[in-house]
Amino acid sequence: MIDSHAHLDSERYTGDRDAMLARAFEAGVGAVLSIGIGEGPAEMHQALGLCRQYNGRPNFPRLYASAGIYPHSTTQADDNALAKLDALLAMPEVIACGEIGLDYYHEGAPRAVQREGLRRQLEIAAARKRPVLIHCRGTNETTDAWDDLFLILEEHWRPTGLGGIMHCFGAGWEQARRSLDLGFLVSIAGNLTYPKAQPLRDVATRMPLDGILVETDAPWLAPAPHRGQRNEPAFVTQTAQTLAGLLNLSEAEIASATTKNFFRLFSLRPDVGH
Ligand SMILES: [Zn+2]
Repeated sequence: MIDSHAHLDSERYTGDRDAMLARAFEAGVGAVLSIGIGEGPAEMHQALGLCRQYNGRPNFPRLYASAGIYPHSTTQADDNALAKLDALLAMPEVIACGEIGLDYYHEGAPRAVQREGLRRQLEIAAARKRPVLIHCRGTNETTDAWDDLFLILEEHWRPTGLGGIMHCFGAGWEQARRSLDLGFLVSIAGNLTYPKAQPLRDVATRMPLDGILVETDAPWLAPAPHRGQRNEPAFVTQTAQTLAGLLNLSEAEIASATTKNFFRLFSLRPDVGH
């Protein structure tokens, strides 16, 4: 199984990162996409650092990295930060640009700044031929951020054909359908297991098997049995289990489908170095 989104560089793992990753491997997690946003552009390189530190060690998951400037940090997306992003995306371990996108719910940066930051990062990712990891959240019960996101992606991303991942998907079927149409995979996080998440379960039930991924978004969003605690990649199996139940499949079938989807998006082969 692959955890397609975890913030492994979080300081919440400082004391036990080795043990945490060993638990993931033990639970059947063969790879983790380590998200490189840090607390801001100054820490964008940390996910790559973890790849270099852990890859090649036996009994640990294979790590891949991303790099990107989170919507709230786009006020810091100056030429320096964007040059750093470009340099990171040139590294073979850094397979994706993200998480980038729009967050109108918390609105940590003005909306126009977020949109400009997104556009500039899409340009860099396109030149480096890296799929993008999208974070999108609208204001309460509206699709405002999604509407703006699709406008930008239709113009600036569809022509690249590179696709990406809608991370921690939380919108409706219409947004899922449009994402698939844009060549994106829809990634489901641990909130799938929460009692109030029936709308998300309804969307997941309609998802084609070749369009779906599972993730933890660790250290946040721990699935039901661990809710409120620190999340970690080993817990992705809980989300896969819930998803398997919804789709009337086995957990092994979910693991195999989501792994295949991940490798297809990033043109990776599981059996060779990248
Ligand atoms: Zn995240």
